[in-house]
Amino acid sequence: MTVVLTARELTRHYEVSRGLFKGHALVRALNGVSFELEAGKTLAVVGESGCGKSTLARALTLIEEPTAGSLRIAGQEVKGASKAERKQLRRDVQMVFQSPYASLNPRQKIGDQLAEPLLINTTLSRVERREKVQAMMQQVGLRPEHYQRYPHMFSGGQRQRIALARAMMLQPKVLVADEPTSALDVSIQAQVLNLFMDLQQQYRTAYVFISHNLAVVRHVADDVLVMYLGRPVEMGPKEDLYRNPLHPYTQALLSATPTLKPDPTKPRIKIVGELPNPLDPPSGCAFHKRCPYATQKCSVDTPAFRPVGSRQVACHYAEQFLQ
Ligand code: SF4
Repeated sequence: MTVVLTARELTRHYEVSRGLFKGHALVRALNGVSFELEAGKTLAVVGESGCGKSTLARALTLIEEPTAGSLRIAGQEVKGASKAERKQLRRDVQMVFQSPYASLNPRQKIGDQLAEPLLINTTLSRVERREKVQAMMQQVGLRPEHYQRYPHMFSGGQRQRIALARAMMLQPKVLVADEPTSALDVSIQAQVLNLFMDLQQQYRTAYVFISHNLAVVRHVADDVLVMYLGRPVEMGPKEDLYRNPLHPYTQALLSATPTLKPDPTKPRIKIVGELPNPLDPPSGCAFHKRCPYATQKCSVDTPAFRPVGSRQVACHYAEQFLQ
């Protein structure tokens, strides 16, 4: 077992203006997220928009500095890393975005875009770079003549293949994928997901896979982290979490996921109301205003994120749901 990514109490807060004469407020976009990820494994991060998934992605890919907590990538602590160590860290962790078109240069040929990471980070010759690019293009299902084409000449699915190829050019230890298939047609999604999994098997890359789609997550994840309003609320092995979700928010997300074989014995839990304003989060359990099981205690005491069965859960009553 090789742990390649360790987050400890990772936190990111933003100061935002409330308006003229109203001073500043603090948005707690990410609050105390901790996990370990092994080489070749996938941690899926799920939750509604505004739950902190994308803030987590930006912290893991060094796009943003965490406000507090620690992050270790391939054995290197990010905080306090030297310039040379940061350069290596940027090689070790790569990202694939939701919109591949936005992350590709429209004026540069695909072959040149794929060769760029090699040009910047290695001493390979032009011929060697071209060979590597063509090998990777073949791996992701692109043809040799695509080398000379521009991004607008490809379909959405092909562009996401290109984005994945570029992220994998330096064989990173960790790949963070932020909703990588949500902009694609359903018919293409499965092909791209399979490509993600094939490349993971080959290179043993650890994936942090961010998605709001629990059907997609079920296909790719080993472990799942469910987030709500910047905090982790449930984390554990995928099979256990899907079979017996312990946090009422996870239960609600799963009951809203379409399935071919609905289980009539499982009650459907509907989340009522909107995600609370992150500038003014509810007291106690942040989910209490939408939770069907909330009690007086829930509106006062913040539940700890603690071990329950095979998982960690932030709910005062998680044991009651354990089967
Ligand atoms: Fe619901 Fe209370 Fe558990 Fe929060 S702590 S999820 S409000 S039962």
